[in-house]
Amino acid sequence: MVPKVDKELCISCGNCVDLCPDVFVWDDEGKAEVTNPGGCSTQCNCQEAAESCPTDAISLEE
Ligand code: SF4
Repeated sequence: MVPKVDKELCISCGNCVDLCPDVFVWDDEGKAEVTNPGGCSTQCNCQEAAESCPTDAISLEE
């Protein structure tokens, strides 16, 4: 899966960065961004991160 963050929707809650720090990091404006799409695997928490995002800013594409 390839995770994406819609920064317009991100409210900087930190869930995704906490759950999957290999993939989600903060950008210069304090919004989450994907730093390593290839780091998303069946073992990581991207699915959980997407589900925990309060604004549905994270999408996971096949
Ligand atoms: S979980 Fe959603 S709202 Fe929270 S930091 Fe990540 S992208 Fe932003």
